Amino acid sequence: SIPLGYFGGIGAASKNGILFKGSNFLDLITQVDTLVLDKTGTLTKGVFEVQKVEVKGEMSPELFMALVAALESKSTHPIAKALVTYYGDITSPLAADVEEFSGQGLKGKVDGREIIAGNASLMSRFGISYSEDLNHIVDTVVMVAIDGAFAGYITIADEVKEGVAETLQNLRQSGIKEIILLSGDKDAIVSALAKEYGLDKSHGGLFPQDKVSHLVALKKQGRTVAFVGDGINDAPVIAMADVGIAMGGLGSDAAIESADVVIQNDQPSHIMTAIKIGRKTKQVVW
Ligand code: ADP
Ligand code: MG
Repeated sequence: SIPLGYFGGIGAASKNGILFKGSNFLDLITQVDTLVLDKTGTLTKGVFEVQKVEVKGEMSPELFMALVAALESKSTHPIAKALVTYYGDITSPLAADVEEFSGQGLKGKVDGREIIAGNASLMSRFGISYSEDLNHIVDTVVMVAIDGAFAGYITIADEVKEGVAETLQNLRQSGIKEIILLSGDKDAIVSALAKEYGLDKSHGGLFPQDKVSHLVALKKQGRTVAFVGDGINDAPVIAMADVGIAMGGLGSDAAIESADVVIQNDQPSHIMTAIKIGRKTKQVVW
């Protein structure tokens, strides 16, 4: 039978908007020594704003953005939403044959042209060459190729959520030994953020399966690992963690479904709250 204290713990968590999917995770979360965090949508708001549109050659920025926005309207990624919002209502043209490459971007047909929009690794995937300078921009860069040639780029920026600095400090003081940032975004952005917040390690430019490999390696070292993420791309790594935590407000259904713990208001400070409730419950139960 389940000790009464666990029900109290699950109830206390739920009052704080934290959903524990089983009493065992209240106990397991107190044993976590390694915390692995996703960046976009987890530490940052995941609400991007367009900073700059740079078009190469003759094409007007309006047409360029119309083509990109038509393609991105087929994706639910936060970057896609930002580009569509920036462009405004899409009446025409429409995109067809759209393929989404998780952690990379999109490819599709708009007005008879082939449009590819995404990061450096998507450009490499399709053999599109671009200026090396773009890798040094400390903003997220969406590169665009039209009919097989580099056609321009858009820079977008995202803000860190409130209370992140304080939360990370509290987590460290609470006995978590290592805090690691894993992201599909560019390494220049990811390492700058990790440095700013004093994280132990960071890795950028990752595919969803790379995040899983990092987690498997940590578990092989005997660590007890919690992973916190939000995206559809995070579902496999959330499932792999000892304690998989999903941001449930703006997070994807897949992430929420594979999680052991769901933070309903998306606030990073609730990672700490969840650990505290686990510890309190343990004192009552044992
Ligand atoms: P994170 O791991 O930080 O949450 P994602 O794996 O969701 O990031 O995305 C990684 C990168 O893939 C983004 O930073 C972006 O460069 C690119 N990307 C993903 N989806 C899109 C899209 N719809 N349009 C353009 N670029 C995209
Ligand atoms: Mg994310």
